[in-house]
Amino acid sequence: MRVLLVEDDPMIGEAMQKGLKQAGFAVDWVQDGIRAEALLAEKVHHVIVLDLGLPGRDGLELLKNLRATENQVPVIVVTARDGVDDRVGGLNLGADDYVVKPFDLDELIARVRALLRRHAGSGNPIMVCGDLTLDPMRKAVSYKGDAVDLSGKELAILEALMRRPGAVLSRKALEEAIYGNGDEIGSNAVEVHLHHLRKKLGADLIRNIRGVGYWVAE
Ligand code: CA
Repeated sequence: MRVLLVEDDPMIGEAMQKGLKQAGFAVDWVQDGIRAEALLAEKVHHVIVLDLGLPGRDGLELLKNLRATENQVPVIVVTARDGVDDRVGGLNLGADDYVVKPFDLDELIARVRALLRRHAGSGNPIMVCGDLTLDPMRKAVSYKGDAVDLSGKELAILEALMRRPGAVLSRKALEEAIYGNGDEIGSNAVEVHLHHLRKKLGADLIRNIRGVGYWVAE
């Protein structure tokens, strides 16, 4: 999951970058509005953390231009304690959430995750379970910010599990999720794919209840 962090204060920016990286995000940090606008145009980020008072171009202006181009990437606005007008303005211009300075890093990260999850339910299909993210459009999986290479069937199994985090899916349910009608299914094909998945991602990520099925934690 790639975050664009736009914050001109070096100390706050550094702390945010560090916290987000520790939480498993890949972070691009820029400190002025012009650079931010150039990176926004590349459309490679899954979420934007946007300070408002910026050199070069104001955060609200960036947000307005972003939404004017129909770019619906989720945006969390960072505002000063007394910036009620900024907050209202930001939300009116299409921000999805905001945090108020000074904020707790854990709160910011929780909000980023919640936002990504909300966004996943509203047409953008990126899925997040803890440190694991899956982008079905790009067929891309990352764990703690690092890309993980999966086969098509492995990806399909993981996607089925991540669509219903916390729910236990039986082997039969997983077979149905990954094979079309009439496909030849080996008797233990799902187990083989799961075995590979757990080897690549770590065995504690995909849990197994013997004889019942598999699940991933939220
Ligand atoms: Ca600022």
